[in-house]
Amino acid sequence: HAKESGRNTYRFFDERMNVNALERLHLENGLRRALENNEFTLYYQPQVDLESGRIIGMEALLRWFSESMGSISPARFIPLAEECGLIVPIGKWVLQTACRQARSWQDQGFPAVPVAVNLSALQFRRADIVATVATALADSGLAGTWLELELTESLLMQSGPDVEATLGHLKALGVRLSIDDFGTGYSSLAYLKRFPVDRLKIDQSFVRDIAEDPDDAAIVRAIIQLGRSLRLEVIAEGTETPEQMDFLRDERCTAAQGYLFSPPLPAEAVTELLRWGRLPAAPLLAG
Ligand code: C2E
Ligand code: MG
Ligand code: MG
Ligand code: MG
Repeated sequence: HAKESGRNTYRFFDERMNVNALERLHLENGLRRALENNEFTLYYQPQVDLESGRIIGMEALLRWFSESMGSISPARFIPLAEECGLIVPIGKWVLQTACRQARSWQDQGFPAVPVAVNLSALQFRRADIVATVATALADSGLAGTWLELELTESLLMQSGPDVEATLGHLKALGVRLSIDDFGTGYSSLAYLKRFPVDRLKIDQSFVRDIAEDPDDAAIVRAIIQLGRSLRLEVIAEGTETPEQMDFLRDERCTAAQGYLFSPPLPAEAVTELLRWGRLPAAPLLAG
């Protein structure tokens, strides 16, 4: 019996692995054609000033609507795109598209706000990253101050000694630098002193339970204070409830992003929000 079930178990795992490998191959092939097939689009999630309720920025988030596979989550395809190197051309497209969109909103007369773009470690380590960013700015006519690049702690820690130089060149273009998912990576706080960072994005895993979990509350409080001491802006990701927002305001965190205010939206929907001038959830902020 044991032998039999053992063999069945093996076969079960074999089949599962084949399915995963096939699915992977399928996704990878799809990814290879996605750019030319125009299957990518950018959604934009507003970032909100917790005092005024005003939109103070946007994060560009990549969406893939595959012709053959339907909508595929970034959590599935971004790691794959990183593994097979496709994140480099895809990331270039994201930079160009986000810069063009930001410039278009400015041309329509809306108050200028920075648009944030997520950068993968692989993109950042490419020798031409500074040229790629400079080209995206020049082609779109967007001033560097209106582009923010979101980097992760692990990206800053893994890369070689030229990280500092690359960050310096990017800053020379006028762009803002933020640290995404702050607190979840391999954190050496020393890099905050060394690198020209403008903003910390508190990871949503800390924000989720701030109203109930004293440990998460303490971590978020500490990050807000760290930001204040080092004169870095701080924004809380994944803000979903009025309780979380109240906590953040009590702790004098000035900015937030999350479903409470708005999900990531197609550009046209964000244009409507900008025309309206306020977010639907803004009345919450008056309380
Ligand atoms: P991220 O940069 O940390 O982005 C925040 C994620 O949280 C987004 O997921 C966003 O839709 C989601 N989110 C926003 N508000 C809330 C909320 O209130 N609650 C919860 N639970 N989630 C919220 P998304 O769009 O699925 O992206 C996942 C990750 O994929 C991003 O995490 C980022 O690391 C990566 N990613 C997305 N677009 C790009 C891109 O253009 N380039 C690169 N390199 N990575 C990207
Ligand atoms: Mg991000
Ligand atoms: Mg994040
Ligand atoms: Mg993330």
